Amino acid sequence: MSMIQGATGDWEVVIGLEVHAQVSSKAKLFSGASTEFGAEPNTQVSFIDAAMPGMLPVINGKCVEQAVRTGLGLNAKINLYSVFDRKNYFYPDLPQGYQISQYLQPVVGEGRVTVDLADGSAREVGITRLHLEQDAGKSLHDQHPSMTMVDLNRSGVALMEIVSEPDMRSSEEAGAYLAKLRSILRYLGTCDGNMQEGSMRADVNVSVRRPGEAFGTRCEIKNVNSIRFVKQAIEYEARRQVDVLEDGGTIDQETRLYDTDRGVTRAMRTKEEAHDYRYFPDPDLLPLELDPNWVEAIKQSLPELPDQKKARFEKDFGLSPYDADVLVAEKENAEFYEQVVATADPKLAANWVITELFGALNKAGRGIDDSPVSAEALAGLIVRITDNTISGRIAKEVFEIMFETGKPADAIIEEKGLKQVTDTGAIEAMVDEVIAANPDKVADVKAGKDKLIGWFVGQVMKASQGKANPQMVNDLLKAKLLG
Ligand code: ADP
Ligand code: MG
Repeated sequence: MSMIQGATGDWEVVIGLEVHAQVSSKAKLFSGASTEFGAEPNTQVSFIDAAMPGMLPVINGKCVEQAVRTGLGLNAKINLYSVFDRKNYFYPDLPQGYQISQYLQPVVGEGRVTVDLADGSAREVGITRLHLEQDAGKSLHDQHPSMTMVDLNRSGVALMEIVSEPDMRSSEEAGAYLAKLRSILRYLGTCDGNMQEGSMRADVNVSVRRPGEAFGTRCEIKNVNSIRFVKQAIEYEARRQVDVLEDGGTIDQETRLYDTDRGVTRAMRTKEEAHDYRYFPDPDLLPLELDPNWVEAIKQSLPELPDQKKARFEKDFGLSPYDADVLVAEKENAEFYEQVVATADPKLAANWVITELFGALNKAGRGIDDSPVSAEALAGLIVRITDNTISGRIAKEVFEIMFETGKPADAIIEEKGLKQVTDTGAIEAMVDEVIAANPDKVADVKAGKDKLIGWFVGQVMKASQGKANPQMVNDLLKAKLLG
């Protein structure tokens, strides 16, 4: 928990998130129109999405299944009876004049998510509910000098709104919660989690209080579209509220926007201006009734999720919680790692994947899917460390060449003559040479400066261009200088 230091003492920040996640589905929630991203404006709009008079919505079973799958993945209660309501408001990108959503009776109830923090600790965040709703269209202000255009491709796309309890206490926790939620949705295949394309957006509720006191009044920062911006917005907003309160002011419950250019939040509308949505059950749609056997079948079909995979990696491969966490966060990374450990030592493999491979990929701006070093090739390199063909240090050189050229480790080791020297005679000759060249240091070692052995090892390794087997060098030096 991180406190905010004010002029008059400490403050605690309280955060709850409402995440809109686009359901992975080929068709929209109540129409057969495509949901493909990036199409020409208004090419994926059915009469229903354009709200033509007399059109009737038909629920897309796939979207319901995805919502239920998500609920199960969030350890949440599945409501076998739920209701679609009309949420009424006027907006140019909403041709119906209302959004079909779920209000009092959502399809998914309370659940929980375990959030892993950087220091290795974990925190539970409660899920209040998950409901299905339609997305709106998009107003385009940059197509014409004096007119606003509308693109209805998104109109009617299925969203899951996932509401959390106000359980987070720092921007770090909120960021970690969003990352975990995205990871779970991707594992489940229910949302692609692509925040740049708008597949996941968060409304961020922030308040501050004195530790131990009741919750303060919150502000809601709308539509934040990256984890980094969520964290920045929370930090700015919490500080702003502390400053207002310490100046003797009060916080108005209001909706704010995060200005990403200036790094500040700005008021949009206050509670007094809040909409009265006049929710009522949509008369065009029957309540949604789910068969418990169908729900059970979805439950049985869930994949191994990040928490389970993490526990298995710790247990089967002896990984630290931190390493396991890093490896399971993205499904593709976990799969890559499992392919490496099919033949390589698990702990070495974790180090190599996390430090060397991820480092190189990051630098090259590439993803694991187009890594120039395959899992098999990386395993081939690691095996050459464990069988003493090369040292760990030489392996880093070999890896760099692998990454650049795509050649296998063995070919590079052969070509560059990097094989470790394990011939006792050859190593002994180098050891003798270094000893003969440094009589004063030899005298120091014999006089009790044991630590100088390390210096001798370094000299011999240098003389061998890093290729001598370090253990053998160490043993020989000890025998000759101390023995
Ligand atoms: P509404 O329906 O008006 O948006 P809710 O009570 O459903 O209000 O809360 C919406 C979100 O606000 C939830 O994610 C919840 O955790 C969060 N929240 C509620 N109270 C607070 C508070 N005092 N501080 C921070 N977040 C809060
Ligand atoms: Mg809200």
